[in-house]
Amino acid sequence: MAQIPFDKQALLTVLQNLVSINSINPTLVEGGAGESEISAYVLQTFEQMGLNSRQDEAAPGRPNVIGRLEGAGGGPSLILNGHLDTVGVEGMEIDPFDPVVREGRLYGRGSLDMKGGIACFIAATQAILAAGVKLKGDLILACTVDEEYESIGMDRLKSQIQATAGIITEPSGLEIVIAHKGFSWIEIETRGKAVHGSMHDVGVDAIVHMGKMLRELEKLNESFYATVAHKLLGRPTIHASLIGGGIGLSTYPDRCVLKVERRNLPHETGEDVQNEIDAILAHLRREDANFEASGRVFFTQPGADLPQDIPLVQILSKNLEGQTSTKSEFKGWAAWPEAGLLTAAGIPTVLFGPNGHDPHAPIEYVEVDSLMLCTSVLVDTIIEYCGRVW
Ligand SMILES: [Zn+2]
Repeated sequence: MAQIPFDKQALLTVLQNLVSINSINPTLVEGGAGESEISAYVLQTFEQMGLNSRQDEAAPGRPNVIGRLEGAGGGPSLILNGHLDTVGVEGMEIDPFDPVVREGRLYGRGSLDMKGGIACFIAATQAILAAGVKLKGDLILACTVDEEYESIGMDRLKSQIQATAGIITEPSGLEIVIAHKGFSWIEIETRGKAVHGSMHDVGVDAIVHMGKMLRELEKLNESFYATVAHKLLGRPTIHASLIGGGIGLSTYPDRCVLKVERRNLPHETGEDVQNEIDAILAHLRREDANFEASGRVFFTQPGADLPQDIPLVQILSKNLEGQTSTKSEFKGWAAWPEAGLLTAAGIPTVLFGPNGHDPHAPIEYVEVDSLMLCTSVLVDTIIEYCGRVW
């Protein structure tokens, strides 16, 4: 396919505008500016491109923005997604909202995570429009709020959008991420009997009982090493996150509450995790008649494991290889991305985006060359995937 050119300076200008707008997630960081200003900027950009555009509030003052390029019909539809929010800026060693370009890097909070990726798919779509290419399938650009906290933006979007496949341009270092873990959050409570510290024959120590639970979780974690590991993701893991309990130094604790996180392989569900916890609690009850506890999986996000032979993955990897002349390898992510929500909603979604340095760190930058390569690959991939009307 002949390469369609895109306006590199325009891409950088869009990215600089995006970085200069403070969009710190307001539920993650108290007083954060939120996404309303940046969402308005993206809406204006989509409108200037002639996309069928709208905002949609996931919460008051927190609007997703969606632009649709209607296809002529007869081709698969593709969604390109990125999140508008960023983490906080405390302790940053650069001006977070001054997007300077130095030695091939563009600096600023969100430059990498993930305003860079958003600028790439905007530039790719602008290139397709400027070249007069007519697509068969619909192309949907969607920028969502609140990725860095609770995913309220994606939660809302996923039920409103239909597409055959999706790409989230998170900074994947120009690698194609087809698999990622999910996670579950679990709350465990042990119950004891609060009496004076001298009354050992009556008191039941809820904290010591939680110690037994912690030992079982450690054994569980070790047992994962014996399980067959996922090719791209390795093994599941479990770790303690928060613990609380006790009344006073001279009192047997009546209650101890532990919160735990389990990082799940794609096939493992919240129900599987609940069964695992229930089995441990049943075992501890059999060992000690005084052991009283309950455990509850209270939140799960799904993992995903896309087949390598689906059309989007094949087309993306072919175009990446075409531009880099190296064999592209598929990657897995241990961290949980919102791609899991789109995939679970029936829109198989990969991650593919630019390269740079440490998204949540004191210095954040995106490599300008990687923005250009990412955009070129997106242009080719969009046209080939959605189909071109000649
Ligand atoms: Zn991100």
